[in-house]
Amino acid sequence: MPESVLSFIGLGSNLDEPAEQVRSALVQLQALPRCRLVSHSNLYQSKPMGPADQPDYINAVAALETSLESFELLAELQAIETEHGRVRKECWGARTLDLDVLIYDELVIDTPQLTIPHPGLPQRAFVLYPLQELVAADFIVPGMGKLRDLLDECPFEGLSIYD
Ligand code: AMP
Repeated sequence: MPESVLSFIGLGSNLDEPAEQVRSALVQLQALPRCRLVSHSNLYQSKPMGPADQPDYINAVAALETSLESFELLAELQAIETEHGRVRKECWGARTLDLDVLIYDELVIDTPQLTIPHPGLPQRAFVLYPLQELVAADFIVPGMGKLRDLLDECPFEGLSIYD
């Protein structure tokens, strides 16, 4: 069993009361075995990527201390997605709950099942801004550089804090 490491999880939903989907997923993250929910960001509202004829998203990022291996963590997240009635249909399509492993300690891997850090991170304001709430100003995303530089390249537009 590995030592506990810090992982950052991205949460998103745009169906069936998205804010409630995200809030209840945060409670489920807290209850995962060999995990401790350290903190989470505000909830954000964002415009959909991909097809525009779908509702806005609610997003958040959670910091999770875990002794699960990265693939074990992915499996736990997919089980939570399934509990939320997630049906995998079109890529970029509407979803009740999407959970991504954004960062797992200093791990950099690229496999068909799991790519860490999540490759969409630099383009996704709805991930970068919530992540910024949880980390130090000089935080480095493994293999991608300073979070501050990624934020400089990624406009906040289309994003708002949801309350
Ligand atoms: P999506 O439809 O965006 O939720 O993509 C799900 C697929 O992406 C799953 O089959 C995962 O195995 C794969 N995947 C690759 N890297 C990651 C990651 N960092 N976090 C979550 N899923 C990932």
